Amino acid sequence: MEENSPKINNPSRDRGFGVNMNYELAVIGAGPAGFSAGIYAGRAGINTVVFDKGNGGGLAAISPRIENYPGFESISGIELVEKMKRHAEKYCTLRFYEEVTSIKKIGEKCNVETTEDTYEVGAIILAMGTEHRKLDVPGEKEYQGRGVSYCATCDGFFFKDKKVAVVGGGNTALVEAIYLKQVGCREVYVIHRRDQLRAEKTYQQEAIDKGINFLLKKTVREIKGDELVKNLILIDVETKEETILPIDGVFISIGVIPQNKLAEQLQVKLTEQGYIVVDSEMRTNIRGVYAAGDITGGLRQIVTAVAEGATAALTSTEALGKSYPY
Ligand code: NAP
Repeated sequence: MEENSPKINNPSRDRGFGVNMNYELAVIGAGPAGFSAGIYAGRAGINTVVFDKGNGGGLAAISPRIENYPGFESISGIELVEKMKRHAEKYCTLRFYEEVTSIKKIGEKCNVETTEDTYEVGAIILAMGTEHRKLDVPGEKEYQGRGVSYCATCDGFFFKDKKVAVVGGGNTALVEAIYLKQVGCREVYVIHRRDQLRAEKTYQQEAIDKGINFLLKKTVREIKGDELVKNLILIDVETKEETILPIDGVFISIGVIPQNKLAEQLQVKLTEQGYIVVDSEMRTNIRGVYAAGDITGGLRQIVTAVAEGATAALTSTEALGKSYPY
């Protein structure tokens, strides 16, 4: 339970027949977009609560290294996120380990049900971000935690002196591969389905310089082992030839999918890929419901997430009967 819980001796709760009416705006998801929304809303005089089913930070928190975020040439995800958290808690209520289970639009208001309480607010910002895409191959589920991982920062250290593979060709895959080499993995392989990597050239060069091995035009057919992962069965996409790569661990970094269940429930309009459709001021198709961050797709950078969070917070004043402060 957070120290700043507003539930005790709460007069507005009584007026609302058991519903917590302390907040005007609820932000769902405490990643960079959610923190930024909380900061900007709080500073605009909007009483704001930010919910997160975990301890916040989103995928940024587990990134070994964030680059290109202005002001920080290079910073670990957890360090940047901790700074954001400390900043946000000055302006809004952060409620961690409180999952939002449903949101209902009732007239001009929204009812937010969580694992702890029911809240009535005048506006919502959906900032639930994304989750790791799964490979969907035999062995992936069975060996999760026994050699299969989605987070090099969390699990990399257990593979010191071992041989590991990272599946994927984007920035995350290469940042993770470089990190795994840095924590002392004996051999690191990057397995990618095309002959061109998606990652930025600077990461590609660094990976080459660090002696990371690339297996291109290969897909994973199966993850095999006994108690722990032992082998990857790879298929060459052109020749269809099968090879076995003996391995102690495999890190899956093949991108993300939007966490859009609550948006679907609210009948918020989604793209074909499941991202929330917003206008330039972060409005969804439902009045009083806004969205920000990776859940809206696009560039999916921290710098865009925080900008969207700020914009959504200030646009939400229109649903709260407040004047736009700038
Ligand atoms: P991403 O850019 O979407 O890359 C996903 C990679 O996984 C692609 O190479 C893709 O292959 C591959 N892939 C997708 N589905 C696959 C499947 N079923 N089987 C095999 N491979 C598959 O995702 P990301 O690397 O997680 O990056 C997400 C966002 O975060 C990006 O916008 C990225 O720039 C950003 N990021 C930034 C930094 C930074 O320091 N600035 C660091 C990390 C991430 P194809 O290439 O063939 O599509």
